[in-house]
Amino acid sequence: MKKQIYPGCLHLSAIFLLVALPLVADDFTHQHIEPAELINPWNATEDVYVEASVTEKLIPGQRVAVPDFGEPGRWYVQRLTDRTYWMICNAFASTVFVGEKAVLVVDASNTVVPDDMFAAIRRFTDLPVTALVYTHMHTDHVGGSYRIQAALKEQGINLRIIASASAAREITAHQNNTAPPTEIIPDGRSTFMFDNFEFVMGTPIAAAHSAADSYILTPDGVVMYADFNYPGRAPLAYVSSSYNITGWIDFLRHVLGEDWQFANLGHANIGYKRDIEKTFAYLGDLYDAYMTEIAPSWATGSAIQEAIASQGTGLTAGVFWGNFVDQSAEAMARKVLPKWGHLPQVEMIRSHAYKVVEDAFLNYNPEVGVVKPEFSPIAPSVK
Ligand SMILES: [Zn+2]
Repeated sequence: MKKQIYPGCLHLSAIFLLVALPLVADDFTHQHIEPAELINPWNATEDVYVEASVTEKLIPGQRVAVPDFGEPGRWYVQRLTDRTYWMICNAFASTVFVGEKAVLVVDASNTVVPDDMFAAIRRFTDLPVTALVYTHMHTDHVGGSYRIQAALKEQGINLRIIASASAAREITAHQNNTAPPTEIIPDGRSTFMFDNFEFVMGTPIAAAHSAADSYILTPDGVVMYADFNYPGRAPLAYVSSSYNITGWIDFLRHVLGEDWQFANLGHANIGYKRDIEKTFAYLGDLYDAYMTEIAPSWATGSAIQEAIASQGTGLTAGVFWGNFVDQSAEAMARKVLPKWGHLPQVEMIRSHAYKVVEDAFLNYNPEVGVVKPEFSPIAPSVK
């Protein structure tokens, strides 16, 4: 029922205003989600946070005391190992490796201002940036490549851009969404050289967060991958808008199987293997909730019968599906919230459940006993 918002007597200009205005919220009958209020702090309460330092190496297990959205345009820098640094600005992170003669950067967001980034790098080295590596082809993580490439060109540097074969394919498919790679690394588990140092680039899954996700492993034990798990937190809303949640999990199983000390997750903070394991436990509970709370009523047909009973036989399949996924996500979220309600970012649990409903409904069949993805580490393939 629409609200009666005006009395019977209206001034002519008021009538014109009402006609000209777009639909207001009360008239908008589509589904929408109210902004979620923060119920937990952003940090994981059991962790030790230290002030960011360009000289002091981080002790494994520690996090850096940096807010998600810090001072706009300011780069926060943390030294991780002898040669590798974590840097973050406007919520997007890059990894910087200092070689003998030059510097390699992993990821450059389309929010990057090259001069600001170079100034941040000069806080710990005077060597020039000569290589840029892509974790995946999404513009929010690598769309600054054109600017970095142009700025270095002015200094007489031809930037090496290194990406997987899948990323190169996707960049072509999306028509210039980011600077094309100058070197294409085969999918699977491959290596490339920079300044006499060997790096691993793993692109193990065809569809995960995107259709071209890589992890990059430095020779001193730092891995970088973007838009997967979070440090001591639940995933980003809608699991980072990922393509395929089972693929997303399988990608992390490969990362878990590699040997590394620190992870640059693309946002937020430094990650560890325990963060992946916690994310797996959380998602596993959501899959279990699908199988106990939702799958039985689908299998008996009662889910469809109840929808018709409440909305009539004129109900369309499209609206039924939208409501089914939303209602299922709500029920699953309520089921697992008592166990996980303490996690930062759990405010987004309904959106995580939504992605699990889609995957569980379409890809898992409880009648043959397989009810959720595998979560065990996958060892690197030996060449
Ligand atoms: Zn992405």
